[in-house]
Amino acid sequence: MEKYKNTLYRNIKKQLSDWLELDKTKMVTTNEVHRFLHSIKGTAGTIELGGLMLISENLLGKLDEDSDGVWKQDDLENLLFALIEHTYEYEHFAEVEIKEKPAHDTQAPLIQIIDDDISMLILLKDILEEKGWMVITSSDPVKATKQYFEMQPDCLILDIQLPTKDGYQVLQDIQFHNEKYFIPKIMISIQNDKQSRIKAYKMGADDFISKPIDIEEFVVKIERHIQRKKIFDQSVLIDELTQVYNRRFFEDVLPRYFQDFKRNGNLFSISIIDLDHFKRVNDTYGHAMGDVVLLEFAQFIKNNIRSSDLICRYGGEEFVIIFPQTANEEARNKLTELIKIFSTKSFTYEQQHFSVSFSAGVYTVHDESITPKEAFEEADSSLYEAKRLGRARVESIQKTSIKKKYLNVSVIDDDIIIRTILTKILQSMDFPLYDLHIAVYEDGDSFLNSNRANENIAHFLILDGVMPTMDGIDVLKKVKKGSNADCFTVLMLTGRKSSGDIATALKLGADDYVTKPFNITDLQVRMERLIKKIM
Ligand code: GH3
Ligand code: MG
Ligand code: MG
Repeated sequence: MEKYKNTLYRNIKKQLSDWLELDKTKMVTTNEVHRFLHSIKGTAGTIELGGLMLISENLLGKLDEDSDGVWKQDDLENLLFALIEHTYEYEHFAEVEIKEKPAHDTQAPLIQIIDDDISMLILLKDILEEKGWMVITSSDPVKATKQYFEMQPDCLILDIQLPTKDGYQVLQDIQFHNEKYFIPKIMISIQNDKQSRIKAYKMGADDFISKPIDIEEFVVKIERHIQRKKIFDQSVLIDELTQVYNRRFFEDVLPRYFQDFKRNGNLFSISIIDLDHFKRVNDTYGHAMGDVVLLEFAQFIKNNIRSSDLICRYGGEEFVIIFPQTANEEARNKLTELIKIFSTKSFTYEQQHFSVSFSAGVYTVHDESITPKEAFEEADSSLYEAKRLGRARVESIQKTSIKKKYLNVSVIDDDIIIRTILTKILQSMDFPLYDLHIAVYEDGDSFLNSNRANENIAHFLILDGVMPTMDGIDVLKKVKKGSNADCFTVLMLTGRKSSGDIATALKLGADDYVTKPFNITDLQVRMERLIKKIM
């Protein structure tokens, strides 16, 4: 049976590749597509490929059998995307048992590992990612420090012996930041004599693990550190009544968004929200009921904003929301929607039903000259305006139009299936303030000879490590030699076993790597993180 399955998938892949590689002006007839899907459905059903049968059946349902219509290449690619994805996954994962990895989500703890021993980096990354944590790795301490400030990891794992700067110096560089945020720092080193350990602890390390590492113990230790970090954050930074962040936290993080804006141009919106006529709620139903309303209100907001948005209780019945990478209009629309839904929510006190609304003021930070204090006051004045104009509404006294920036994204891979999948993922990503200009290349030469390779704007490059004519490492070398080398952020796709390639890629300045075959969801999260970092 296995043999038939493989043959079927090989044939499907062949046909898909032929169609995907077709000249954009060529057409495929509905009839051909129909025959193709029909034969898949028949065979798949016979050889117990239920998933494949369902997909083909579904797609057949979208075709009009009698039509003598034709398909443009783009439309055909859209139509068949589920099948393309499925074929890729079968090809790479069917034989090997798929381990049930917990899905990475953007809330997963982020761990940064800094070590110049690449095989160690790869090993630790694999192990920690199995736990569902997100791991960023770096072998160059200078780059790593930069990454630390940009990505704000929840835990740092750091080797002592590093090129150019040692681990102690890295600790020194991040000390000021760390005094406030208590990010657990774990030193790992072969150099494990008492003096080194004492020095590490004195410089702020929270733990010291000797190499060779006992993996089981290592994982448990990291887990504990992450748990404690979480508990710590909650105990001092969470408001007791409403269970959202408190004012102290807000005042701590607000400057970070301003720094991020100055450094990376990431705009953000601040909103101050305030319950309407809340005094009446207290007066009519008592303070205990007032407290219930406050708790439910805060939880309602928290559950209905993105995980990257932040809500804090500023005081009394006043809250602040920070919407990262969100333009003014978008923030206002979101708040309008929230007000609408919350106002219909019914509270009950001794058989009496009542509802509560809120008002919001918004200010969007898109200008370097504005200070946190000014931004807050602007949002507050807008809130005042919303109250004045009748409550249960959003106002922003700021009148601006914001230009979208753009980011070049290039994919270089000789496999048409992978190019297609990556393009689709990239197209599905939504960055409100930025346009991605996506282009795909089947080899290094066509990329390097393109105009965009020399453009002096931020560029995200996804690079296949192994390609027939010029491999990914050579492309990377050329890119890094260009005068615009600093514009590039590079994600390498490498074979699982080629740790040598990974080492070379990281040494040459690649920012991250993913081993093939990749899990599509994982890759998407990873790309999103890198793109956010660039912007
Ligand atoms: P407006 O629509 O103009 O905002 O009217 P308001 O009545 O909501 O505004 P005001 O600021 O005058 O009143 C806020 C009230 O919120 C007064 C205060 O007693 C109450 N409050 C503040 N903190 C808490 C709390 O933790 N629990 C309860 N139950 N009430 C609180
Ligand atoms: Mg109020
Ligand atoms: Mg108030």
